[in-house]
Amino acid sequence: MTTFSPSDYQCDVLIVGSGAAGLSLALRLASHYRVTVLSKAQVNEGSTLYAQGGLAAVFDETDSVDSHVEDTLIAGAGLCDREAVSFVASNARHCVQWLIDHGVAFDTDPQAGGEMRYHLTREGGHSHRRILHSADATGREVETTLVGQALRHPNIRILERTNAVDLILSDKLGLPGPRRVMGAWIWNRNRERVETCQARAVVLATGGAAKVYQYTTNPDVASGDGIAMAWRAGCRV
Ligand SMILES: Cc1cc2nc3c(=O)[nH]c(=O)nc-3n(C[C@H](O)[C@H](O)[C@H](O)COP(=O)(O)OP(=O)(O)OC[C@H]3O[C@@H](n4cnc5c(N)ncnc54)[C@H](O)[C@@H]3O)c2cc1C
Repeated sequence: MTTFSPSDYQCDVLIVGSGAAGLSLALRLASHYRVTVLSKAQVNEGSTLYAQGGLAAVFDETDSVDSHVEDTLIAGAGLCDREAVSFVASNARHCVQWLIDHGVAFDTDPQAGGEMRYHLTREGGHSHRRILHSADATGREVETTLVGQALRHPNIRILERTNAVDLILSDKLGLPGPRRVMGAWIWNRNRERVETCQARAVVLATGGAAKVYQYTTNPDVASGDGIAMAWRAGCRV
């Protein structure tokens, strides 16, 4: 039987990944839970940092969520799941507003007089202007702001240069009952040793897998690790 006690780190929620997904979740959970965030490289390295154009959400009064959904389905050429598209389009404005409330500075429209209006651009496939942006470095603005907030939060611990290698599963430890995820094995690149983190819940927010291709605009950390770990633990992918 393998044991991982005492573990090197303990927390309520372990979030693997410090991009927009991981950090926004960490900030939402941290008022109630002790959160540990793992980052494979420096905390800000990931696709989020390099995103340029901006975030699509319905902010214009002449626009609608239905139109955003239809445009997305057309652009997806039959590959999109309508339910997922609807969910994302319906929640986009609320999520963008959450970023604004957390200090992300999107460009405003100087033509809008005294009113606080965001400058919306129009990108390929969109029938309306619905892209909020921060010049052409939107992801950098999002990532830098969220990193700053997370680093200041007393309930969030960020571990840089720490690769989650695999999930720790209850059955592998010989524990009875249905298989549960108990934490993760971590390769700590700073100390050059394998460590463990025990958590009540583990979230995989490791971004994409574009590094399976020889040529990609994605950074090196986008190697699909979370998808592989989930698969090995028995998740449907
Ligand atoms: C060049 C470029 C331009 C883009 N432009 C836009 C745009 O204009 N608008 C738009 O909406 N989207 C754009 N995107 C897509 C967008 O950036 C991503 O969809 C989004 O940032 C993904 O966020 P994420 O948090 O899921 O992943 P990421 O930001 O990639 O974060 C993944 C995190 O997981 C960590 N990680 C991975 N594996 C491990 C592991 N084994 N252990 C520990 N940590 C791990 C990484 O270190 C990183 O911190 C662009 C992407 C790129 C690359």
